[in-house]
Amino acid sequence: MKVYKFGGASVKDAAGVRNVEHIVRLTNDELMVVVSAMGKTTNALERVVEFCDAGKEEAALNQWVDIIDFHVAIMKELGLQPGTDIRLIGEIPYDPALSYDENYDQIVSLGEIMSTQIVAVYLLKQGLSVEWWNMPKLLRTDATWREAVVDDNASCAVIQAGWERSNRPRVVVTQGFIGGTADGKRTTLGREGSDYTAALLGNYLNAESVTIWKDVPGILNADPRIEPNTVLIPSLRYRDAVELSYSGAQVIHPKTIRPLENKHIPLLVKPFGDPKAEGSRIADDGIGPIDVPVYIWRKNQILITMRAKDFAFVLEESLSEIFDIIHTHRLKVSLIQSSAVTISVCVDNTRFVPEAIEALQVHFNVTYNDHLSLLTIRGTTPQILEQAKQGRTIMLSQTTRRTARLVVKDN
Ligand code: ASP
Ligand code: MG
Repeated sequence: MKVYKFGGASVKDAAGVRNVEHIVRLTNDELMVVVSAMGKTTNALERVVEFCDAGKEEAALNQWVDIIDFHVAIMKELGLQPGTDIRLIGEIPYDPALSYDENYDQIVSLGEIMSTQIVAVYLLKQGLSVEWWNMPKLLRTDATWREAVVDDNASCAVIQAGWERSNRPRVVVTQGFIGGTADGKRTTLGREGSDYTAALLGNYLNAESVTIWKDVPGILNADPRIEPNTVLIPSLRYRDAVELSYSGAQVIHPKTIRPLENKHIPLLVKPFGDPKAEGSRIADDGIGPIDVPVYIWRKNQILITMRAKDFAFVLEESLSEIFDIIHTHRLKVSLIQSSAVTISVCVDNTRFVPEAIEALQVHFNVTYNDHLSLLTIRGTTPQILEQAKQGRTIMLSQTTRRTARLVVKDN
């Protein structure tokens, strides 16, 4: 069996869903089809949560109705009967007694529930044998809302058993990005987490390969929206792919590689608009190191600098404390630089940052700069580096022989 993952852009409208059928029919393999929420639905559901939390009931309801209407329109265009073929979700599952993050998971997870129902029923009506799997009951996680940690042993056992028990349909359709707790609450795995789900399912079911269908030709050496001349990297090693995704390349979620590497399962990245194209292949026999310069932007960064309060340059002794705070506040560090008396960390500027800064201020003098991006250039040369610095305000740079990392001020 193989795992296919379709992201939000690939199922943003009825034509996208028809294209999923087209791609599914290009093979005779048994497929586990992992689907994200349609188009920008996850963002829209996040707004519903914000409105509910702010007590803006009418705004929440309007946004909710827009989301339902969007899905109903797609169902109709696909010849499906809303309310008959697919039960519509009536009310927003918001409970003011629960925390923001718990509500978030109950509401935002519905995007994937809706998209997978539409895809599954559509494929079924086209005559394929299909099962719809409900990840909140199968992918067991803890209750770290919005960033749930998967219990691999429990999930693997349940999912393998589900596969054994199934009637071996040609296609199983299921949700990326979501799971559930032992007591039946839905959880989410972190934004853009569907790739990770696909990799986990590939690992549990010993898939032949996992394919991520994308709106780009494969893994490119730069973001085509930023750089005009990009090239496709046809073959990569797992370790190069890990490095690319941690540096901020948007093509694959950073957690995707390990479950696949552990079982030597190839990861293919292919364009859903041209399914017969080769795309990129990440595997044990991948070619490395990558032989073209690679440009990776990681946006929305904040550079936090700490200085010991008493100027004792014993920062080394404070390192564990600093990283403890960073860890408890769930900050994602993208770069670290230290001098005798200061240490700077560049982190993703998430909602956890203000509290982390407060905690750091107890022991350190803290300054910070936001509206920054981190540009990583792999396979750099002095000329390439000079060119990249042109016209940009560089807050900090770290270079080794082959890799340059620049913290750049956004314009
Ligand atoms: N729908 C989720 C998101 O947009 C998960 C994903 O697309 O991978 O973040
Ligand atoms: Mg998405």
